[in-house]
Amino acid sequence: MKIIKLLQQDRYSLSFEVFPPKMSTSFDKVKPAIEKIAKLHPSFMSVTYGAGGGTSQFTLDIARDMRNRYGFPTMAHLTCVSSTKETVAQKINELKKAGIQNVMALRGDLTPEMQLSDAHHWDYSHAVDLIRELKESDADFCIGCACYPEVHPESADQREDIKYLKEKVDAGCDFMTTQMFFDNNLLYNFLYKIREAGITVPVLPGIMPITKANQLERALKLSGSFMPQRFKAMVDRFGHDDMAMAQAGIAYATDQIIDLYANGVKNVHLYTMNKPEVARAIQNNLSSILGK
Ligand code: FAD
Repeated sequence: MKIIKLLQQDRYSLSFEVFPPKMSTSFDKVKPAIEKIAKLHPSFMSVTYGAGGGTSQFTLDIARDMRNRYGFPTMAHLTCVSSTKETVAQKINELKKAGIQNVMALRGDLTPEMQLSDAHHWDYSHAVDLIRELKESDADFCIGCACYPEVHPESADQREDIKYLKEKVDAGCDFMTTQMFFDNNLLYNFLYKIREAGITVPVLPGIMPITKANQLERALKLSGSFMPQRFKAMVDRFGHDDMAMAQAGIAYATDQIIDLYANGVKNVHLYTMNKPEVARAIQNNLSSILGK
């Protein structure tokens, strides 16, 4: 099933994101966690693509296996910045052969050696190039792309960021998933601005439950997200106590999701970080809303 169909339904949904192993040798460690998450029957599951593509085969394998075994739609992420045209063409072909209907088209993060000033030597500089290629293939993919309520770190300002976002939608992107955020007002403000700019596709807010203080440091480094005072106080108070922090982080993420549902958002994407217990706790907290 195409995810866009699901996002257009008039009911609340919660989808989950998982990631493949960082090294091929660690697949056995990751697999049981992903299976437990799949058994929660999310509305769909997305599988990230390892930076640089090192374990990329697992993305496709997990997306295909989970769909075949549990019956929900899956989405494979695909990045392009460190790839050649040939590699991307081969990946698109593999996705098609595996019957993967949903693809999250991303540029990928630049590695420390990559300079934007060298971009003219690369086969791909931006996600929009990949979206165009996916669209040109004869596979009829449902295409997702990334968006940034707090502006992508490389963008000069939000106006520029939204201009390029519109370019991705005009190229054929069917929906967008947001970077994590900890203050829902940032999302509401972003939605207002993109709608004003003529972007009408569904936006899937991405919620990251922070259940460990050291996870926060990594997450903030990646996303540059704003930390509201309420959130800071929670981490300051409970960060040293693993169990208390997990409970508080789950409550905070649940609260964010309920506020989103209450304010007209129907579909939310949860960055599960391959933690089945966290995904389960949040889904249980929302069971009556989700009808589960
Ligand atoms: P782009 O859309 O290309 O944007 C990157 C920057 O370039 C932005 O500043 C944008 O404004 C600007 N830009 C865009 N188009 C143009 C243009 N035509 N001309 C000039 N400037 C332009 N990374 C992974 O490695 N694997 C994953 O699985 C993965 N999944 C993700 C899922 C989500 C929901 C999100 C939010 C991010 C994910 N990332 C993933 C991280 C992502 O790859 C990085 O944030 C990356 O830096 C940008 O990717 P993008 O697709 O948004 O790039």
